[in-house]
Amino acid sequence: ESILKVSGLRATVGDQEILKGVNLEINPGEVHVIMGPNGAGKSTLANVLMGHPAYEVTGGEALFMNKGLLSMKVDERARAGLFLSFQYPQEVSGVTVENFLRTAKKEVSGIMPMMGRFNATVKSEMQSLEMDEKYLARYLNEGFSGGEKKKSEILQMAVLAPKLAILDETDSGLDVDAIRVVYEKVQALANADNAILVITHYNKILDYIKPDFVHVLVDGKIVKEGDLGLANTIQSSGYEAFRASV
Ligand code: ADP
Ligand code: MG
Ligand code: MG
Repeated sequence: ESILKVSGLRATVGDQEILKGVNLEINPGEVHVIMGPNGAGKSTLANVLMGHPAYEVTGGEALFMNKGLLSMKVDERARAGLFLSFQYPQEVSGVTVENFLRTAKKEVSGIMPMMGRFNATVKSEMQSLEMDEKYLARYLNEGFSGGEKKKSEILQMAVLAPKLAILDETDSGLDVDAIRVVYEKVQALANADNAILVITHYNKILDYIKPDFVHVLVDGKIVKEGDLGLANTIQSSGYEAFRASV
C-alpha cells in the first residue's frame, strides 16, 4: 500500500496554471528525488501537498495513506504524518526551539511529551546534526544562518518522525559541511515504514542521499523517471533535453 499516490494533479496560483497533471507514487521504504529547473513547479507541488492556501487545486487527486489528502486541513495533514521542510523557513519570534518542538510533537501525536525524556531525545538528535544545545533556548529561526535554519527543520523532522517528509531545496544556502551533515541525517532517518521526497536542483546532495527514484519535473509535469543515473545525466547535460520533450 502506497504512502502517497498523486494522479493528474493540476494547480493554479492566481490565474496561472503551474501544475499540469502530476503523477507520483511513493511507497514505504522509498527515497524519491524530484529535480527540475527554476520555476518548474517543484515548490508548488510541495505546497499543494501541504495545503498552502495560495494554491488552488483544479484537477486530479492525492491519496495519503489511502485517504483523500486534498480535502484535509493543514493540521490534519501534519497529524496524518506529512511533514514539509520549507525552502525559506519562517522566523518565529517569542517561541523557543525547545517549546516549538514540544508543542509540535504534541500537535502531531496528541500527547504532550514528557519533559526529561523528550529533551534527551532532542539533544541526541541535535548532536547528530552538529547543533549546539544552546539553540534550544533561541527563538525559532530568528537570526539563524541558512544552514542553522535547515538544521532546525531537519531537527523537527527527526523529532516528529513523519510518515512522509518532503524536503524542498533544503540544500539552498548551505555550505558543504552543512549539506553533508543535513543529508546524512535525512538518509539516516529513512526506514522501511516511512518515505522521503527530496526536491532539489542541485546534484551535490546525491553524494549523501541514495534515491530509489529520480523524477524530472519540467513545466508542471513529471517528464521523466529513473534512478540515480538520471540525476547524473542531468548533471552533465542539464534540463534542455527534457524541456524539448514538454
Ligand atoms: P520551483 O520550485 O520549481 O522553482 P515554483 O513552484 O516555486 O518553482 O514556481 C513555479 C511558478 O509558479 C513560477 O513561475 C512562480 O513564479 C509561480 N508561483 C509559485 N508560487 C507563487 C505564488 N505564491 N504567487 C505567484 N506566483 C507563484
Ligand atoms: Mg527554485
Ligand atoms: Mg522551489
